[in-house]
Amino acid sequence: MDHFLYRDGALHAEDVPIARIAEAVGTPFYVYSTATLLRHFHLFDDALAGTDHLVCYAMKAASNQAILKTLAQAGAGMDVVSGGEYLRAKAAGVPGDRIVFSGVGKTAEEIRTALTGGIRQFNVESEPEMEVINAVAQDLGVIAPITVRVNPDVDAKTHAKIATGKSENKFGIPIARAPQVYAHAASLPGLKVVGIDVHIGSQLTDLEPFRLAYSKVAELTEQLRAQGHDIHRLDLGGGLGIPYARSNEAPPLPVEYGAMIKETLGHLGCEIEIEPGRLIAGNAGLMVSKVIYVKSGEGRDFLILDGAMNDLIRPAMYDAYHDIVPVIEPAPGVEQRPYDIVGPVCETGDTFAKQRNMPPLNPGDLVAFRSAGAYGAVMASEYNTRPLIPEVLVNGDQFAVIRERPTFDEIINRDTIPEWL
Ligand SMILES: *Cc1c(COP(=O)(O)O)cnc(C)c1O
Repeated sequence: MDHFLYRDGALHAEDVPIARIAEAVGTPFYVYSTATLLRHFHLFDDALAGTDHLVCYAMKAASNQAILKTLAQAGAGMDVVSGGEYLRAKAAGVPGDRIVFSGVGKTAEEIRTALTGGIRQFNVESEPEMEVINAVAQDLGVIAPITVRVNPDVDAKTHAKIATGKSENKFGIPIARAPQVYAHAASLPGLKVVGIDVHIGSQLTDLEPFRLAYSKVAELTEQLRAQGHDIHRLDLGGGLGIPYARSNEAPPLPVEYGAMIKETLGHLGCEIEIEPGRLIAGNAGLMVSKVIYVKSGEGRDFLILDGAMNDLIRPAMYDAYHDIVPVIEPAPGVEQRPYDIVGPVCETGDTFAKQRNMPPLNPGDLVAFRSAGAYGAVMASEYNTRPLIPEVLVNGDQFAVIRERPTFDEIINRDTIPEWL
């Protein structure tokens, strides 16, 4: 459920008409619903009630500081995957002891930043990285809390570009090698082992791969404890999928996910961390765009929008499906017709949907891409010198621009011309 509904024939974000935001900020833009963000966070938090836990929002999904602050004030921690994300989380007021640092290639500089500012734990992805964290910690005279990310070799049955838990993926260490790697960690004086980390992929629509991975983590916990390691925290990653096509998908609910976690790991008495990104932000955001032209082609009609692949790259990158709905509710029974829905960028890949049935639309009409809150704004670029589009946050009947659209001057003046030209 989200808070983007038609009221009196007009699409609203909570109590604010989308058309009113469009008038204020221009198109295209992203808009997020506070109520939906909080609802999704609480679904996870409640699903783990009764267990010592922390929901660490995977902020790479949508990292605007207003979103981070909204979630942090509700009690969320953050999962960061770069030094930049770490600093952004801190800037949004998230304390270091609520930030976990994931990612396969943390640099010494990023590690230093996190150790200086405070960190809940590093999720270590390789032995060379472990050595660097140890060296930086010793140099600073501190002890770095770590988990090791294990790769359980399970098939997440998701899009190949977002599966991370198979042995051929670059992530984590093979679970069979964990005893050696933990022994290595224990020998390094700058490190303190606190637990185990696993994350098998994104947009999972079935609990079974999670169950398989978590069962392996349960076994490993007992094995490592028997070898004298103090395993008291399990970071279970993110990855629970969302329905993109409202009609026919029903991924497991957070409450079912939480029950499965308790079932597979509850007996170990560990503190549980989870790192959901997409399920918190995905259906909490829309991208709103305007029809520029309706163009008749050879046997097909094109809706040419002012939004493009640089603003929302998921269809081009993952063949992703997004529901696209008119901002003015179509009259009941109105005849739909197929359109190819495209942006103005000079790439055939700049196609959002092919032969999608839509009510008749005209230049100037607004459309909204549903489920665009996660991996939308954060993956945008300025390709074709198109400004990054603004982000807006709605809360009840209020809305605020949380990132402005840059001016062309700001974009162009970022270049510097060498002396010799
Ligand atoms: C991307 C990522 C997540 C979040 O995945 P979602 O599918 O958005 O829930 C969590 N943990 C790690 C380590 C990630 O890389």
